[in-house]
Amino acid sequence: MAHRLRPVAPIWVAGRPQHGEEEFFITHPWDSAPVGATSWATPAQVETAIATAWADAEECAELPAHVRAAALDHVRRRLAEETENLAELICAESGKPITWARVEVNRAVSTFRWAAEEARRFSGSLQRLDTDPGAVGRMAMVRHFPRGPVLGITPFNFPLNLVAHKVAPAIAAGCPIVIKPAPATPLVALHLAAIVSETGLPPGALSVLPVPNERAEALVNDPRLPVLSFTGSEVVGNRLRAQVPTKHLTLELGGNGAALVTTNYPDRDWAAQRIATFGNYQAGQSCIAAQRIYIEEAAFSDMRDRIMRQIAELGTGDPSEATCKVGPLINEAAAKRVADWVAEAVAEGATLLTGGAREGATVEPTLLTDVDADSKVMREEIFGPVLVLQSVRTFEEGLAAINDSRFGLQAGVFTDSMSQAMHAHRTLQVGGVIIGDVPSFRADQMPYGGIKESGVGREGVASAMRDYTYQKVMVIPHT
Ligand code: NAD
Repeated sequence: MAHRLRPVAPIWVAGRPQHGEEEFFITHPWDSAPVGATSWATPAQVETAIATAWADAEECAELPAHVRAAALDHVRRRLAEETENLAELICAESGKPITWARVEVNRAVSTFRWAAEEARRFSGSLQRLDTDPGAVGRMAMVRHFPRGPVLGITPFNFPLNLVAHKVAPAIAAGCPIVIKPAPATPLVALHLAAIVSETGLPPGALSVLPVPNERAEALVNDPRLPVLSFTGSEVVGNRLRAQVPTKHLTLELGGNGAALVTTNYPDRDWAAQRIATFGNYQAGQSCIAAQRIYIEEAAFSDMRDRIMRQIAELGTGDPSEATCKVGPLINEAAAKRVADWVAEAVAEGATLLTGGAREGATVEPTLLTDVDADSKVMREEIFGPVLVLQSVRTFEEGLAAINDSRFGLQAGVFTDSMSQAMHAHRTLQVGGVIIGDVPSFRADQMPYGGIKESGVGREGVASAMRDYTYQKVMVIPHT
């Protein structure tokens, strides 16, 4: 499909559209055609955005809940109205298949809907203190106060919804926010800023600033942005954590998502379809993509065959086509890395069941088995359309295999036994256990995030609002 070149998108500096320095093109990962352009924020524009966020912090904090909720409702409605346009933009700049891009817009709509509801609901609590003999005659009122302006740094793989997951709770909690989007995918974030500018929030409430990574320090180090909410790779996230240890940090980092399929699970076709789909959706570029699949040995060969049949249905192609299931990776270098890791695993003794080939930025859906436990495709985050199937003798061995990872984002367990589900929930070292599905399930209102090297803090609208605020108690004497 021929791709449309859009007019140069303004950057958004303290609620106003501006032009920065040095325009640059955004190219379609499928065929490298330019699909849009914007400009880098100048140091003076970065300073204006930070200074205005700082200056408007009190006004944002004081906005009544009904005003914040109305602004969030407006954004929700406008996103819904513009679904097709936004989905095309996501598809064009990230290479995400158009059907998945529509899902992403719908999720962003739901993120803003939740934020509007939470803005109305978010409240403090009253705590009795007379359980302690020394505190008889007193009670504590607990309220949440905004920590101040937030710096949100976002990755390329969900260029709208992951920005929404920072902007919506910031508005709901009364914090100004400055977003630094991924350089490959700034256009949809800039469009979101245009929609937010219609709400009448204070100008400092939102800036969206494309800034080259090497110049992002000015944002990261600035004390007027006391909260850093980062979503991206563990390498960059951990570097930033070392750089600004005293900031309040939320780090949503990578993973090597695993699932365990038990012999007793009754619907193997469902399990195979979910594994094949979510090992390959957005070409595997999701932090909770299915990557390592452990299958109890009595079910292994049957599940392997079912998964292979499902994968055979997933052709690669132009992500703008409605039939496309697996599009390109974000660029050719990323695809080359994935293909190299697959070749390395095979050289180490793994069996390639299907796939492995690369053409440009596209990698065929790939299935490996008998993989060495220390191969990169097992230990690292593959971030490509690659699934590894491993046989395990028992449920316990499967749980231990899932835990044998430095990451801990989410895990899936295909079981219909309540006691196995409860045991998995207690045992697995992750931020979320998904029963009867792959690790890739996420509903935008639920607490979401990792442990171990997958990060700190939680997103999900209410969780992010708690993160952007701090609790302050007032102890009150009473009769
Ligand atoms: P990345 O770490 O390369 O980049 C993320 C963001 O950090 C981008 O905006 C990038 O420009 C910025 N950045 C890079 N260097 C920087 C620096 N020195 N200072 C300030 N900012 C800098 O990640 P990516 O390739 O865009 O995204 C893929 C990664 O994101 C994967 O590891 C994936 O697992 C992770 N991710 C995590 C979640 C989650 O919720 N846990 C969700 C989506 C993606």
